[in-house]
Amino acid sequence: MTAPTFDNSYARLGAGFFARTPPVPVADPGPIAVNGELATRLGLDPEWLKSPAGVAALAGNLVPPGADPIAQAYAGHQFGGLSPQLGDGRAVLLGEVVAPDGARFDIQLKGSGPTPFSRRGDGRAWLGPVLREYLVSEFMHAAGVPTTRALAAVTTGEQVVRESPLPGAVLTRVASSHIRVGTFEFFAIRGDNERLQALTDHVIARHYPDAGDAMGMLRAVVSRQAETVAHWMALGFVHGVMNTDNMAVSGETIDYGPCAFMDAYHPDTVFSSIDRGGRYAWSEQPRVAVWNLAQLASCLIPIMGDEQTAVAEATEIVHGFPELYQAAWLRRFAAKLGLAAPEPSDRALVERLLDLMAAQKADFTRVFRGLATGDAAAEFADPAPFEAWRADWQARDPDCALALRVNPVRIPRNHRIQQVIEAGVHGDFEPFAALGEALRLPFEDRPEWADLSLPPREGEEVRVTFCGT
Ligand code: AMP
Ligand code: MG
Repeated sequence: MTAPTFDNSYARLGAGFFARTPPVPVADPGPIAVNGELATRLGLDPEWLKSPAGVAALAGNLVPPGADPIAQAYAGHQFGGLSPQLGDGRAVLLGEVVAPDGARFDIQLKGSGPTPFSRRGDGRAWLGPVLREYLVSEFMHAAGVPTTRALAAVTTGEQVVRESPLPGAVLTRVASSHIRVGTFEFFAIRGDNERLQALTDHVIARHYPDAGDAMGMLRAVVSRQAETVAHWMALGFVHGVMNTDNMAVSGETIDYGPCAFMDAYHPDTVFSSIDRGGRYAWSEQPRVAVWNLAQLASCLIPIMGDEQTAVAEATEIVHGFPELYQAAWLRRFAAKLGLAAPEPSDRALVERLLDLMAAQKADFTRVFRGLATGDAAAEFADPAPFEAWRADWQARDPDCALALRVNPVRIPRNHRIQQVIEAGVHGDFEPFAALGEALRLPFEDRPEWADLSLPPREGEEVRVTFCGT
């Protein structure tokens, strides 16, 4: 058994980027899950992670040799308002590991205790958000969406107090980096151009080696985000809290706090209890991405040379998002209809279907999956308009094998996650393990998992989600 080896490039950026903060030990660490497949991909030894030393490390009770725990500094626009100092308030970056293929990954403990950025928070996480993030981020990965991942979850043997006392847990999150739009904002609003440049150079070296300079990096980030958001849309995913501190510059989906997938389709769907204005509704996500990317662009202006030219060019790049996004959207939704080579008119075909689904509150996942299996009509209370649509769709000669490859049979439905959390609170992690296993193969239809593709029954539906705090 071997412990991980670390190489901490972010910590080498030096003072001002983070606060050195060890995780705060917990009373009684207990394993919930170790993601063996991810461990192997990272070049880590799953057996070590499962050993008493590994579980202690995953709970923050033991800092493995070579780790250099830090809380990263960042700022962020939250629901449109600037918070000049956020930072890791309930997480520490243990360090970075370099996988056998040379790819570099952050290993972060989330729920690891207070840091200098905790403000009034306790630095802890309760079991609910830890299980939700584990399941949803691993599903996103299985579905091909760029995302942070979950390496492990442990219980702490401690209670955290929210509205009531709840069992505490720690998630080990893996990301190609945790650098956010808000990380750039942190230095930009302080006028710290030197660190802004150092951060930019770090991001270019780490994520966009061909980008060259800040302008090239902005172009690359815009293009990655367009792909990621189009991917969310095609799965009916509502991120829920697209603040600039929750948008990673790598393009990976990050921060699974109040996120959820739609059951019945409606473009205005919102789950988060704090998103009262629907700022982060499903259909708003591409617009919010542009808004966030505009914040990134304005941060970078001071290090882009001549200001007037920089503003013009950066604006053009950000304004290029809709075109990139629309192309990605059409590619993904056309594929969902089994159309590998979309024509411009296919956009209207997709939109007609979505309108029918919204009008009849049809289940997003089941309708798209049902197209190729012939079961879609059953999802409509009045199938007649759908049948008319289907005739036009059939005329496009769809490839059903393609549709089956891109439309999941099952998603992490909110009511299922809720059931998993309720069992977990009572110390039963069987449902968590079972759902996690089924979500690893989202495109595979198996009779033993039939239940998991059903929409919530009356009374089971979960319409509101909460941030992890
Ligand atoms: P989020 O809304 O989850 O993206 O978090 C926004 C900010 O609040 C980040 O700076 C977090 O580190 C901080 N935060 C959230 N929950 C806690 C907590 N329980 N204790 C300390 N800080 C927290
Ligand atoms: Mg966050």
